[in-house]
Amino acid sequence: MTMADLCRLSSDPLYRSFPCLSDPARRSSLLLKVALVLLHIVCAGVLFLFDGGFVEKARTEPWYTALYLLLFTVTLLQYFITAYSSPGYVIDVMRAVNEQNSLFRDRTQQRQPATSKSGSLVISVDGSQSQSGGSFVANDSTYWAKMVIDLYPPGTTLRACTCSYCNIEQPPRAKHCHDCDRCVLQFDHHCVWLGTCVGQQNHCKFWWYICEETALCLWTGILYIAYLKAHIAVSWWKDLVMIPLLVFMLISLIFLILLLLFHSYLILTNQTTYELVRRRRIPYMRGIPERVHPFSKGMCRNLYQFCFRWSSIYELEQLPTTQELEDKSRPFTCLDALTCRCCC
Ligand SMILES: [Zn+2]
Ligand SMILES: [Zn+2]
Repeated sequence: MTMADLCRLSSDPLYRSFPCLSDPARRSSLLLKVALVLLHIVCAGVLFLFDGGFVEKARTEPWYTALYLLLFTVTLLQYFITAYSSPGYVIDVMRAVNEQNSLFRDRTQQRQPATSKSGSLVISVDGSQSQSGGSFVANDSTYWAKMVIDLYPPGTTLRACTCSYCNIEQPPRAKHCHDCDRCVLQFDHHCVWLGTCVGQQNHCKFWWYICEETALCLWTGILYIAYLKAHIAVSWWKDLVMIPLLVFMLISLIFLILLLLFHSYLILTNQTTYELVRRRRIPYMRGIPERVHPFSKGMCRNLYQFCFRWSSIYELEQLPTTQELEDKSRPFTCLDALTCRCCC
C-alpha cells in the first residue's frame, strides 16, 4: 500500500471509526467500548448467577426476564448505533452540496449549451437554503462559500467563518472537534464513551441511548435492592460483590437522570451543550440575554424537528436577525400564555 493510499484511507470516515490496536486514538476508543460492554454483562450476569429467585422467575414468568433481556440488548445495540453513526460532518455536507451543484450544472448545460454564461450557472437553492439565499450564480468552488455566507448577517467576511484547521467554511452552529479533527454541524460535545462527537445527525440517537441506559440501570438497581433486602447477611461474599455494584449503579443512575433531563431541556429549547456552556465566548451568542434561545422555534417545532430529522438530510440554520431576536426577548404577557407562545 502506497503512502497516498494510507493518507486517503486515514481520512475515510469508515476507516476512522473502525477499531485498531496500533492507533492510540482508536485503541482507547475500542478499550472503552469493551469496558462498557463488560460492565453491562457483569452487572446483569451477577443477577443470574446469585439471585435464584430471578432465575426461578424466568421459568414462571418468562415474559418478565424476556423484557429485561430485550432492554439489555436494545441498550447495547443503541450504544453501538450511536457510536458508529456520523454526527454530521461539515465536509460531508459540503461534498453532498457540491455534488448536487455539479449534477444541476450538467443538466443545465445540456439544456442551454449556447446561451449559458461561461463557467457560471443560475442555481436555485431549495428548502431551508432558499430562505436565506434564493437564486444566485455560482460555480463549484464558490457555491458552498456563497451558501454559507448567506446564513450569516450581512457584512460577515468569509475569513470569519472559515475553520483554520479544515480550511472550509463553517455554517452557523458548527464547530471544529479536535478529537475527530473535523467540523461538526450543530456541535454538542465530543463523547469519550462513544468515541465520537454528538452533533446534528446523531443527537436523537444519543438521547435514546441515555433514555434506554437510564431504564436499564433503574431496573437492574431495583432487582439488586430486592435481592439484598431478602438475602442480606445470608452470604457475605455475595453481598461483597453486589453492594459495591449497587452503589456504582446508583451513582450512574443519578448521573444518567441528570444527563437525560439536561439533554431534554436542550432539545426543547433548540440549544447545544457547547452553546449553553460557552455562551459568552461564541460570537453569535454574545450580547443575547440568557433567557433568549436564538434558534428556538417553539417547543413543539423544536421537538418535531429533533424527532423527525432524517439522517440523510442536513439542516443549515441561518443566524436570527435583530428583529427576530427582539421578538424572542419580548417579555411574556397573559395573551402569550393563552396563545401558547412558548410552544409554537
Ligand atoms: Zn474544522
Ligand atoms: Zn469529536
